Amino acid sequence: MGVPGNFADRAPDGLADTELFAVDAYRTSFDARVVEVDREGGRIRLDRTAFYPTGGGQPHDTGTLTTSGGLLEVTGVRRESGLIWHSVVSTSSTDGASSTDGASSTEGLPDVGTDVGGEIDWTRRFQLMRTHTALHILCGVIWADYGIPVTGGNMEPLKGRLDFPFPAMSADLGAKVEARINDEIERAHEIVVDFLPRNVADADPALIRTAANLIPSVIDPLRIIDIVGLDRQADGGTHVLSTAEVGRVRVTGTESKGKDNKRIRLEVVDA
Ligand SMILES: [Zn+2]
Repeated sequence: MGVPGNFADRAPDGLADTELFAVDAYRTSFDARVVEVDREGGRIRLDRTAFYPTGGGQPHDTGTLTTSGGLLEVTGVRRESGLIWHSVVSTSSTDGASSTDGASSTEGLPDVGTDVGGEIDWTRRFQLMRTHTALHILCGVIWADYGIPVTGGNMEPLKGRLDFPFPAMSADLGAKVEARINDEIERAHEIVVDFLPRNVADADPALIRTAANLIPSVIDPLRIIDIVGLDRQADGGTHVLSTAEVGRVRVTGTESKGKDNKRIRLEVVDA
C-alpha cells in the first residue's frame, strides 16, 4: 500500500529516509546498514529503520534482520536521546543450519558497516495499528459526545485502555460508547498523517484540546494523526489508513480509578 497524500514533503529533514514507519506504516521490509553496535547491551543502530520504537503508548515492533552472516531476531526497539536502538539475538546462520548451542551472545552481533535486510512482524504491527487507531476513535467519540479530553492510556496488540476525567462511569455508558465507536468505524473515515509547523499546530483548536501545545516547542513540525472528521492529535504512532480497517471494537470494562479518573478498556476483534 502506498503513502497517502504528499505529507512526507512536509516531514522534518531526513525523517522520511530514516524513520520509515513515520511516513509509511504499511512498510514491512527495508534495507539498511549498521551504524553503531553496543556489544554489552546486545543492540545495534541502523542508518534507517521500519521498526517502531516503544513510545506514545504503542509498544515496539519485533521482527528479523538478515545479514550475510546470519539471522538476528529483533526483540526490542527503544529510542534513547533521539536514537533508535534494536535489541537483537542471533538465532541462526544463513547456511540453513540452525544453531545447536543456542548462540545468542554478543558474538552474533554484526560489525559497523554491515548491510542488513529488515523485516518487521506484520501480524503484531497491524494488530497494534488497529488498536492504536481504535483508541483515537474512542478519544474522538468521548470528546464529540461529552467534551471530555483523554488523560492517559496504554495498549498491547488488540487490547487497550484510556482514562478520562468523567465524574461517573457505568456499564451502560460503556455499551453506548462501544456502539458509537463501531458506528465511526463503519463510516470508514480516512486517516491522514500530516506534519504541521508549530505556529499552525499551536493555533489549532483540536490540537490544543489534546494538549499538543504542551509538547516542547523544539519539536517542529509536529506529526499529526488526523482521523478526518473525527479526531486530530499530535502522535508518533502507526495507524491504519481507514477506520474500517480496525474491524470491530468491544468495550470490555469500565472502571473508576478514583474521583475524576475513569477507565475504559477495549478489545479489537475482526469485523
Ligand atoms: Zn496515539
